Amino acid sequence: MCEKKCEHVVHGTAASPGVAHGAAFVFLDRAFEAPHYEVEAAKSNREIKRFRRALEATREQVNSIKAKIASKLNEQEAQIFDVHLMVLEDQALIDETIQMQRDSNCNIDHCFHEVSKRYITSLHHIQDDYLRERAVDLEDVTRRVLHNLLGQQEARLDALHDGRIVIAENLTPSETALMDEDKVLAIVTDRGSRTSHTVIVARRIPVPAVVGLHDITTKVHNGDDVLVDGYNGIVILHPTQETLTRYSTIRSAHDSLRKIYAQSVELPSETADGHRLALMANIEGPEELDAVSQAGAEGVGLFRTEGLFLNRETAPDEAEQFAIYRTVVESMKPHPVVIRTLDLGGDKPWKGAFFAEREKNPFMGLRAIRLCLEHKDIFKTQLRALLRAALLGDVNLMYPMISGLEELQQANAVLEEAKEDLRKRGEPFASKLPIGTMIELPSAAYTADILAQHCTFFSIGTNDLIQYMMAVDRVNDKVAHLYNPNHPAVLRALKTIIDAAKRSGIPVSICGEMAGDSLYTGLLLGLGADSLSAAPQYLNEIKYLVRTIRFPDAVALAHQALECRDSESVYALLRTFYNTHMAPVLSKVTV
Ligand code: PEP
Ligand code: MG
Repeated sequence: MCEKKCEHVVHGTAASPGVAHGAAFVFLDRAFEAPHYEVEAAKSNREIKRFRRALEATREQVNSIKAKIASKLNEQEAQIFDVHLMVLEDQALIDETIQMQRDSNCNIDHCFHEVSKRYITSLHHIQDDYLRERAVDLEDVTRRVLHNLLGQQEARLDALHDGRIVIAENLTPSETALMDEDKVLAIVTDRGSRTSHTVIVARRIPVPAVVGLHDITTKVHNGDDVLVDGYNGIVILHPTQETLTRYSTIRSAHDSLRKIYAQSVELPSETADGHRLALMANIEGPEELDAVSQAGAEGVGLFRTEGLFLNRETAPDEAEQFAIYRTVVESMKPHPVVIRTLDLGGDKPWKGAFFAEREKNPFMGLRAIRLCLEHKDIFKTQLRALLRAALLGDVNLMYPMISGLEELQQANAVLEEAKEDLRKRGEPFASKLPIGTMIELPSAAYTADILAQHCTFFSIGTNDLIQYMMAVDRVNDKVAHLYNPNHPAVLRALKTIIDAAKRSGIPVSICGEMAGDSLYTGLLLGLGADSLSAAPQYLNEIKYLVRTIRFPDAVALAHQALECRDSESVYALLRTFYNTHMAPVLSKVTV
């Protein structure tokens, strides 16, 4: 008979490779209700003391978070927590809570929760944006005080003490960005898919991740023993000794493979018959530069700059952005850096502005270039910083989510305004730099021939291209199985785009997650991609594979794949190609 803690295997989506084993840390951010019970009148003072102690404890926590943020981000951002401290001093809130406890003889947790909910509701109804945003601060502080009143450890991702497997319903990209890299062994979530930004940001910490498990948070408790298989998208609760032994073999097989792949790091990225395929890195910020150089990347093919805006309410100013771009550009020299302008929105809403009211359909909403064209001040600040940084190295500017020629022209017009600003200031900048377009909307794919005549390079964002072509929300675990890079329509779109680029003589890169998945390397090469850009951790294997391929074989593969009528046949073809080329190395290890 099975004991309470018997082994239990759960299947999800493999989002980041690796195997990890450890204790679970369940991060639940659900709104919770405070308990409600009566307290004898004689014990009223004890309740009030409890309340004051919780306020004091919260004050200490907020001060320590403030200090941490000041060292991780900057002083200005840390000042947000001054508002939290002010809430804790708010005499009206404190007095009303105490009064309610005395009048109602209810427990203080309940009274405090009721009073603060009243304040939060009235703040939500105020017309003034600033005051409305303070509701979020009050909610945050209320949660902390209640945690202290209830003697609960608040689930905080930036305060893990030892290596844990983080189990969450969902993580926002900003929560993921704050995670302490040494303390997270693996990431496991109910929601999400392989291409959700949370997962992409999480790859900054190269830990295994399995997402889209639907209800894993209801099955795991803090401290439970968990094994995560990020290769196959499997989470095993309470693994048996036998499973652990099996996985230790799998882990060492993968370690051996990694060592073999790493041998190609210094070698050129070219096929066995000398056809070049540049391998570049996707990054979110300068902290990843070491990983980029260790992976032997030939440049940064996608710098997602919106990472600079997450976890803060104020936009980084020109000087701050310039300093960051400068660091990246100078350290990548002589290699190129493709800096993508802001792609906020979608699953990356910004705390700072614009998203106070949640959009019903954010991926179709005010995202990326649309947002930048509506808020030109923010866009121009970024463009000025970028134009200045372009003097320091090989900088390529790229716009995200361009829908067609008009939008490209509008973006370029703002770029001219940014140049004019710099001219007036007498600030030196690169007046000519390559301007690229991400092709990630079906409308851009269909007009790729036109766009190709108006920009210097293309980079295909397969994550969004597939999402928008197939109407599959890239963060929705319920439809994650429908997200299908093998669909013949996706292949045809890739061909159309790449052919259009070739006809206009501009280079084309792939920077979506397909570029980092070695299953697609032969196909993308054969379709004519000039470069692939992916998370640094994927590049060794891809280069190793590229060096085993003969270019005409890749072209034949692409040709055959385009002939397929369904995605299963495409998948089978690509799998066979991969297995055949990797057989010599795979046979050296048993996975
Ligand atoms: C893409 O859409 O494929 C892409 C690279 O951009 P992001 O994942 O940041 O949307
Ligand atoms: Mg995209």
